[in-house]
This record gives sequence, C-alpha cells and structure tokens, in this order.
Amino acid sequence: MTKTKTQIKTRFAPSPTGAPHVGNIRTALFEWLFARANKGAFLLRVEDTDQSRAIEGSVEQILKALDWLGIDIDEGVIAHDKDKGSEKPYFQSKRLDIYREHAQKLLDKGHAFYCFCSEERLREMREDQQKAKLPPKYDGFCLELSKDEVDEKLKNGKKYVIRMKIPEDGATSFQDAIKGHLVIQNKTIDCQVLIKSDKFPTYHLASVVDDHLMEITHVIRADEWLSSTPKHVLLYKYFGWDEPIWVHLPIILGTDKSKLSKRHGAVSVMEYREQGYLPEAMINFLALLGWNPKTDQEILSVDEIIAQFDIKKINKNNPIFDVTKLNWMNNQYIQKKSVDELACLIDSVHDRNDIIFKKAIALVQDRLEKLSDFDDLTLFLWKLPEYSADILVPKELDKPKTKRMLEIALGKIEKEDQFNEKDLRETFLEYCEHEKLKRGDFLWPLRVAITGMKNSPEVFAVMDILGKDESTERVKEGIGKL
Ligand code: GLU
Repeated sequence: MTKTKTQIKTRFAPSPTGAPHVGNIRTALFEWLFARANKGAFLLRVEDTDQSRAIEGSVEQILKALDWLGIDIDEGVIAHDKDKGSEKPYFQSKRLDIYREHAQKLLDKGHAFYCFCSEERLREMREDQQKAKLPPKYDGFCLELSKDEVDEKLKNGKKYVIRMKIPEDGATSFQDAIKGHLVIQNKTIDCQVLIKSDKFPTYHLASVVDDHLMEITHVIRADEWLSSTPKHVLLYKYFGWDEPIWVHLPIILGTDKSKLSKRHGAVSVMEYREQGYLPEAMINFLALLGWNPKTDQEILSVDEIIAQFDIKKINKNNPIFDVTKLNWMNNQYIQKKSVDELACLIDSVHDRNDIIFKKAIALVQDRLEKLSDFDDLTLFLWKLPEYSADILVPKELDKPKTKRMLEIALGKIEKEDQFNEKDLRETFLEYCEHEKLKRGDFLWPLRVAITGMKNSPEVFAVMDILGKDESTERVKEGIGKL
C-alpha cells in the first residue's frame, strides 16, 4: 500500500565508504531534482552502520561534492558533525536505540527471531547449499528453538543476531515507478539479519525504520538495491507502515557496456572538478544519464531540468557514461563563459587580472574541453616549442622561397607600431592582396615560426599576446632554420 503524503521528501543515504562516485552522485541528483521539481524536501542521511567499511573524511567529501554541484540539503546532515531536522540525529550510528526498539517490536509480534548460529555452522550450511546447487539462504535452524531455549541462551550471554522471518509460501510484490509491478516468491527471500552481533543494525532494518520515521515519500536509489526491496516491503508490512514509492535507477555503464569502474577513467566526482569540469556541465551531463526531456535539447540549465524533471521520463535502459560527450558538453559551457569568469576559474600561476593571461584565455577558449587543458594549449606562448625547419615550408614553396616570405614578414613586424591583433591582420592581409600572394604561402611560415607548431591558432592573436620583441625573435629563429 502506498499513500500520498502532503510533502514530497526524498533522501540521499550514502554509506561513508570513501569519495563519492559519479553513480552515487547521479542518484543524489535525481533525488534532489525530483524534490525540487515537486517543491518537496531533500534529506541527507549517513548510513554508517557498517563500522568496518567506514572511511574517515567520507562525509566531508560527500558534502563537498554536493556543494560543488549546488545540490542543497533541506534536512539531515549538513556538516560532517552537524545535522538539522526534527528526526535528529541523521547519522545512523547515533540511532542504535531506535533500531533496537524496532527490532524488539518485530520480535514481540513474531516477525523476527533470535539466531544463535555460530559462524562455523553458517559456513557449513553455505557449503552444503553450494554443493547441492541451492541459493545461499539461512536454513531456519534457530526458528525451531522454543521460547525457553531462547531465554536460556540469552541468560547465558550467548552471542546472537536478530533475523527477520519470511513467510514460507506466497509471494511479495511491489510497484516500482520505473520497472513496474514486481512479484518475488517468498521462498527465495533470505531471513535477513536485522541486528548484528555487535548490536548494530544492518542496512535493511536501519534504512526502513529511518525512511519511515523521516517521512520519506520516494525511495530513489540505484538498481543494485532492487533485490533487497522485497525484504523492505515485508518489513513495512510487519510494522504496519505505508510503503514509500520505490524508484530504482538503472545503473550507469561504461562505453564498453560493463559496470562503470576505475577502468573507464575517473569515477570520483571531485576528480572531475579537479580536472576542470564545470558544475553546470556536470549536472547537465549526469541528469541526462537515464533521464531526458523527450526533446532534442541537450544543453539544459539546472532550472530547465527541474522544470521538466519527471520520473516518467526516466529510461529503463542503462545509461552510458561517455566522456567524449561530457567533454563536448563542458566545452559548450566553457564557451558561454566570459573571459573574466574563466580567468577566475582556471587554476593558473597567472594573476587573474593579467591582460596577457586573459588574451591567452580568449585565444584557446573555444578549444578548452576542460579548464585544465589551458596549460597544454597555451604552453607555446610562454616557451617556443622545438620544431623542425620542414614544417615551416608550405606545400607549394621550397626552403629559399619560404625564407624570403619570413624575411618580408619580419620587415613588416619591425615596422608595425600598433602591435595589436587588428592592425597586424590588416597589415598582413593588405600586403598579400597588394602583392597577389597566396595567403597560405605568406602566412603559413609566419604562423609556424611564431607558434612552433603545425596546427595552432590564428597568428595575429598570438603575435598580439607575444608582443613585438618576442614575435621578432621567433621569426628570426625561423629564418635561421632555413
Ligand atoms: N547506504 C546505501 C548506499 O550506500 C543506501 C541505499 C539506499 O539508498 O537505500 O548506497
């Protein structure tokens, strides 16, 4: 049973196991977009019940990634040591009593049981199941214990876990907003541990209890949790609570159609930031991983995405993380920025008000796929690359004729008083026209001498940046090679 609550509330419930991956953040983004699209709330809860997997500093990294992308939090953990909201605390490790109490309720109602099986017994059981080619599943050994036997063991301080009971027959079904109606035979569902022997809850109990107490209306999460959902549905039933709406997002694949991993490049969101991807490009790109507005529009601002975001438009197929597309998109956003904005964003040794720095940005702006490309693309400005004389010579000229072209160019450079892009262009193009020279023959050697490269930006803008002295030097060096 699902019920409509007045305010839509979604949650991001990461486990603090390291830097957030693009997959985690895509999930967070969809949860946030859905909340924003419906004037609802977005909550952040830290699922730190598996102490053995916890990595220090993860919460800070998660918060940093969300903050970078502008994914703001209405309720829950807002700093690594701070949370806000009426269901405080939002760190699961600080809510142990709540889970314990709820486990007790299930025990009392006969929906859960104590299990005293030793590790060794469970291992043997699994091995036997493996041999018999049966799926691994608790065999119900402790379900047979009488109340007295259980009390006796508890009194003697025997180590235990608490497991949920699963109906032997029948099926559990639920509706997923993307996958439709799903039916799972109860005999395939395991008697999931709810409270571990260290008294911590498992993810299953803690997340169901919290989603209920925190009034989450839509559980939006990655596909990998789909197989756990029948257990969660049963827990909701046992507690007598209304289920949230389930939304399982197809997982992201790499271009080779395998699950996205380090092999495909960076997976941590902050690595993308370090490489010089813009947050607006990242949001746009991640939003299109599985969702699209059902139009051809690919460049969408976050407001445009929110305005059109709808679970019905989420694709059933697995989205592909294609870095080439991300680079294209990032370049589109970089092109839209002003040079001044880019001067603030590019991580550089240059002062952001430096006029030469700004001219260099304008020179390469349309070719930047990431901000960090700036250094490589402009290296030739600060240091003439090594190059061979051959590349100075255009197809239809020989070395002596090329040398002559460069000598004429040198003369023009030396005579130019207004050493700026516009005047230089005028001087050189007028000369070409007047002398009936082919532009390529005259300007190719000049461009190569000035940039030291076969493929490079237009020569006049580069000379403007280099200034008269450096341009003169470089052309002389070119002449010297011929
Ligand atoms: N703690 C789980 C994770 O790390 C959350 C799963 C869920 O959203 O229910 O992904």
